[in-house]
Amino acid sequence: MRRTQSEAPAVLPGEHPPERDTGGGHTSGRDAAASDAAPRDTPERDTPGRDCGLCPRLVAYRTANRAAHPDWFNAPVPSFGGLDARLLVVGLAPGVRGANRTGRPFTGDFAGVLLYQTLLRFGFAEGRYGADAADGLRLVDCRVTNGVRCVPPGNLPVPAEISACNVFLAAELAAMPQLRAVLALGGVAHRAVLRGRGLKAKDAAFAHGAAHLLPGGLLLVDSYHVSRLNTNTGRLSEAMFAAVVEDLRRRLGPRLG
Ligand code: SF4
Repeated sequence: MRRTQSEAPAVLPGEHPPERDTGGGHTSGRDAAASDAAPRDTPERDTPGRDCGLCPRLVAYRTANRAAHPDWFNAPVPSFGGLDARLLVVGLAPGVRGANRTGRPFTGDFAGVLLYQTLLRFGFAEGRYGADAADGLRLVDCRVTNGVRCVPPGNLPVPAEISACNVFLAAELAAMPQLRAVLALGGVAHRAVLRGRGLKAKDAAFAHGAAHLLPGGLLLVDSYHVSRLNTNTGRLSEAMFAAVVEDLRRRLGPRLG
């Protein structure tokens, strides 16, 4: 497997998990119920049902959240953006007060601000990110998902959960006919993408800024996760993340759509 960026730093010890989420808009219980059906642009087989029971610990957490916050989404969070996109962004898992509350990946918490502002800056989105699934933001030639679709306690999925949910990521990767590049946010997402393509972790080591050409021609690009913890500690700056997305824009060429 060829690494296309030879200057990438050595692998660092994992990525920090996303921060605990704060603030933002709400998705109503009625909206959450309306999303029982799979998103229109996603084959139903590729999308977990609202009551997916493959991960008992996450089901228990989901049940508790539904009882405590019946107006939240509280279900596997569907991907955002069209299946015809050339770029797929893969995060770790929904934040409890972010995507788990609003029903859209990276929406309603700090991580979404940096992610969507950067996607807007480089033409992978248009409109305005308003921290709410109804803000009208539109992704352009880009789709956003998570390696684990349900919110985990403490923002940390366990290996069995990452493994169980990989069936949906693998199906999604296979269902994107124009897919040319995947942006993995953190080492867990990086390894989930490799697994979803039938590869092993040793086949490509995670490193911020690295770009790996996978068999079949798919480009896997790595970034530290856009979490508040990573930005607060200086592990990831806005400029560092912008450089990764700018490089993706250069590799994919002018925006489509
Ligand atoms: S994390 Fe994925 S596999 Fe596990 S219960 Fe949620 S949707 Fe199902």
